[in-house]
Amino acid sequence: MSKGTPSFGKNQKKTHVICRRCGKASMNTHTKMCASCGFGKTTHMRSYKWQEKCGY
Ligand SMILES: [Zn+2]
Repeated sequence: MSKGTPSFGKNQKKTHVICRRCGKASMNTHTKMCASCGFGKTTHMRSYKWQEKCGY
């Protein structure tokens, strides 16, 4: 197993598809949960305090 460009050819499995809530390819095909907005996990949009730009 090598990292970097030569190993990209093995990366054929689709783990994330387009999420119908946030439109990003963050919907996990196995867990049915969006990694970006939390669709399938939470009813509200997934967000964290540390995502805010001026947090402090
Ligand atoms: Zn989403």
